[in-house]
Amino acid sequence: MFDSYQENSLRYYPDRCINCRRCTQVCPHRVFAEGERNAVLINAPACMECSACAGNCPVKAIEVRSGVGCAWAMIGAALRGKDMESGECGCKKSSCCGDD
Ligand code: SF4
Ligand code: SF4
Repeated sequence: MFDSYQENSLRYYPDRCINCRRCTQVCPHRVFAEGERNAVLINAPACMECSACAGNCPVKAIEVRSGVGCAWAMIGAALRGKDMESGECGCKKSSCCGDD
């Protein structure tokens, strides 16, 4: 079975989190939720590897490689004039677009 958390590059280290909540504010797919002591990773497969969370995390509790996933495919598709709805984006994944 396809497991996009295994396939995508998002990695979260809750022991480093200081609960600033920036990741929950910037993530366009609600991959993180607010928790009492730290952010909670609730929907890792929805991650499109845009790196907004990692870029805003002050303690490097989140790591993600941008430029390899869905967000990169979407940018590439737009530049090539491809239609995202028809699956022409070129992304090799099957579950990220449209899940959230
Ligand atoms: S990389 Fe982007 S989509 Fe993935 S969890 Fe971070 S903010 Fe959300
Ligand atoms: S941005 Fe980093 S420190 Fe802030 S809540 Fe998210 S994981 Fe925790």
